[in-house]
Amino acid sequence: MEYDQNNIFARILRKEIPARSVYEDEFAFGFHDLSPLAPIHILIIPKGPYLSIADFSAQATAEEITGFWRAVSHVAKQQGITRDGFRIVSNSGPNAGQEVPHFHVHLLGGTSLGPILE
Ligand code: C5P
Repeated sequence: MEYDQNNIFARILRKEIPARSVYEDEFAFGFHDLSPLAPIHILIIPKGPYLSIADFSAQATAEEITGFWRAVSHVAKQQGITRDGFRIVSNSGPNAGQEVPHFHVHLLGGTSLGPILE
């Protein structure tokens, strides 16, 4: 599948669609999920055009990969959830229910999250 330049997150990165930003640097953008599933539910996306975690891992530069994961860690600290703990989820493809075809991680915290699958 080819990367769709008009997917919702590409449009958010171009500021064509608003998002409640919490973090931005040259590698990553973090914003509140519109339909939060936990008290803290942030999406973090790389700035480059990657469909999924597999594409990102295979195609991004080492600098982009490091920058992205540092941003994820930074947002977790910024949100004050590193002491009590948090979860990172990345849906990839139809079996995981990936809705937006731009690689993203969900950062979830602020409560006891329970088992990963229920
Ligand atoms: O991992 P998946 O692709 O299923 O998740 C997409 C997420 O993007 C959903 O949690 C949805 O609420 C969120 N979303 C958003 N803002 C949009 C469109 C989708 O926060 N404009």
